[in-house]
Amino acid sequence: MSASATNARLTAVADIANDTALTVRARRLAMQYSSAEALEILRVAITDEFKGRIALVSSFGAESAVLLHLAAQIDKDIPVVFLDTEKHFAQTLSYRKKLAAQLGLTNVIDIHPNKDEVAARDPKGDLWKRDADACCTLRKVEPLGDALNEYDAWITGRKQFHGGGRINLPAFEANATHIKVNPLIRWDKEAIDGYFAENELPAHPLTAQGYPSIGCWPCTHPAGADDDIRAGRWRGAAKTECGIHGLR
Ligand code: SF4
Repeated sequence: MSASATNARLTAVADIANDTALTVRARRLAMQYSSAEALEILRVAITDEFKGRIALVSSFGAESAVLLHLAAQIDKDIPVVFLDTEKHFAQTLSYRKKLAAQLGLTNVIDIHPNKDEVAARDPKGDLWKRDADACCTLRKVEPLGDALNEYDAWITGRKQFHGGGRINLPAFEANATHIKVNPLIRWDKEAIDGYFAENELPAHPLTAQGYPSIGCWPCTHPAGADDDIRAGRWRGAAKTECGIHGLR
C-alpha cells in the first residue's frame, strides 16, 4: 500500500473512531438528561461538558428570544452565532440588535457568506430562485461550518413540535465533528408563548404580521393559523430545512 493510501486509511479510521466517540458521548448525555429542564441542560453544556468550547446558533427569529434568555441566565458572554445570509428582513436585523442589547449578550458574532464565493456562485443575488439548496449551502451551511471549527458543540433552538425530521430529536446528538445540544425539544407553542409573556420578551416584529417562523425574506411567507408552524418556509417547495443540521 502506498504512503498516501495508508495515510488516507489512517485518517478514515481516525474519523470513524472520532464519530463513534462523539455518538457514544451524545447518547450518554441524552439518556442522563432525558427528563432535565432546558435550563439544566444548558447549564451542564455551557459550564461543564463543553466549557469554553460551545456556541449558541440563533436565527433571531420568532421563537429565538426564549433560548437566548435562558442562555443569558447562565453566561451572557456565550458566543452567539448569527448567520447573516445578507437575505434577512430588515426587521430581523434590527431585532437582533435590540434583543442582544436587552438580554445583555456581549458576544454575538455575525457570520457572513464568503464574498469571493458569492461573487462566483451568486453574482446577481438570485440563486435562491434557481436552486435554493445551493443558495443555503453558500449562505448558511458553509459559513456556519467554518465558524464552528473552533467549537466542540453548539446549541440549537429546535423543538419536536415543529414536526418533520424534528419529531424525535434528543437533547444531545452528534454528527461527525460536533455535539449538538437541543434544550427546547419538549417545548410547545403554549410553553413558548407563556415564557415570552412571563419574562416580557420582545416579539420579532413580523410575528404580528402572520409569520410564525422567520428566515430569509425570499423564502419566508406568512402562514395561516391552522398551518404547520414552518409552513411559510420555502412555501410550495419540497424543501423544509436549510441544511445546517446536516453539517458533517
Ligand atoms: S433561505 Fe432562501 S435566501 Fe436564505 S440562504 Fe436559503 S435559499 Fe438562500
